Amino acid sequence: MKVTIFGTGYVGLVTGACLAEMGNHVVCVDIDAGKVERLKKGEIPIYEPGLEPIVKRNHASGQLDFTTDPAPGIAHGQVVFIAVGTPPDEDGSADLKYVLSVARTIGEHIDRYTVVVNKSTVPVGTADRVRDAIAGELAKRGVAIEFDVVSNPEFLKEGDAVEDCLRPDRIIIGSSSERAIGVLRKLYAPFNRNHDRTVVMDERSAELTKYAANAMLATKISFMNEIANIAERVGADVELVRQGIGSDPRIGYAFIYPGAGYGGSCFPKDVQALERTARGVGYSARLLGAVESVNHDQKTKLFELIQRHFGGQIAGKTIALWGLAFKPNTDDMREASSRHLMEALWKAGAKVRAFDPEASHETHRIYGDRDDLVLCESAYQALDGADVLAIVTEWKAFRSPDFARIRDMLAEPAVFDGRNLYDPVAVEEAGLAYYGIGRGRSL
Ligand code: NAD
Repeated sequence: MKVTIFGTGYVGLVTGACLAEMGNHVVCVDIDAGKVERLKKGEIPIYEPGLEPIVKRNHASGQLDFTTDPAPGIAHGQVVFIAVGTPPDEDGSADLKYVLSVARTIGEHIDRYTVVVNKSTVPVGTADRVRDAIAGELAKRGVAIEFDVVSNPEFLKEGDAVEDCLRPDRIIIGSSSERAIGVLRKLYAPFNRNHDRTVVMDERSAELTKYAANAMLATKISFMNEIANIAERVGADVELVRQGIGSDPRIGYAFIYPGAGYGGSCFPKDVQALERTARGVGYSARLLGAVESVNHDQKTKLFELIQRHFGGQIAGKTIALWGLAFKPNTDDMREASSRHLMEALWKAGAKVRAFDPEASHETHRIYGDRDDLVLCESAYQALDGADVLAIVTEWKAFRSPDFARIRDMLAEPAVFDGRNLYDPVAVEEAGLAYYGIGRGRSL
């Protein structure tokens, strides 16, 4: 099929590459000329495991192309995806300016029946607004062209995005148009060979499904952080509690890790946006408010532990930081817990020596050159001249370090384990002080 995708971010680029891999002809449109230029040269602007070879292979074979010009893009696709950002507005609700701008552009250019597919995460009712925006442009042009708007939320996880896209858990098609549903069923058929993963529903339910999924996942994290905060006050180890409850199949082991708070481009903004949606229809979503506020406090947790360790005297200290990305296997720094920690440390007069396997470039892009931040080439280089070590992102490379070496390199050997990666006893036996999240010994 001929497919057009607006937006070449984590969702648009991965979706475009995977659809091209399945034999479709895909054109990706982005307003960021620099990004498009790099993609045309075979450079991948984001770090996403497995993405580069698929993009390069399909670009070379002509299955996947990139442009900044929407007109040929829209002329190309029988199916046009909207996969642009929906950042939080000032009041926390989703800002639809990019989505609606693409919708108007589509209305300006379509010249035959087109299936417009919204993949961005958008509040309930957005499909109607997209439809109105396209219809408004068609009316201005004085033409009557048929089109359908489908809500098809995306569930890929950064760090596993290619795998998730090629082998989705489910494909939600939100539409009441049999014609559009038929087109999408055909497009997604190669992703459904093992068994049919398609769930067809109305647009509003599809839009809400995406928010409900992210809110549920964020709730699991905040719930475990709440238990961790209780555990440390009553002298229990939340890691043992986690294993104890995970063994119940109704609860399960997945996604119940306590830590230094969730970040990323989705959970914080989507929980907020759903709460604002609820408020807009006269319902106070108390649980969602609590999920947010627990997470907000949890992001200050490592700073508080470090501050307490130094008796409040952080100025002049140097903190080694392992992990900058909001989670492993990505270079995405949006709402990353590391940013909250670094900014609090800088405000208190401390310096940071940080290492991340992939996110140093992004950190430099955000913070630029500054005296109180050194971006290091390796984990151990970050320890050079540092007082203590804090771990913020659970990259595999940090899981079994040489504690004796860490002890010898740190001026005041202490580990602040923001992801509970280590056995506290093993760390202490190596001669380091250990601080974790909810491990009954941090207070
Ligand atoms: P992103 O910020 O990485 O990329 C968005 C891209 O859209 C940018 O390259 C930007 O230049 C481009 N863009 C903006 N306006 C445009 C226009 N008018 N025409 C063409 N391109 C335009 O965003 P993302 O992380 O890929 O997320 C996109 C959407 O998908 C969001 O709604 C997000 O909530 C949702 N989502 C994201 C993830 C994720 O893990 N990142 C997962 C599921 C859903």
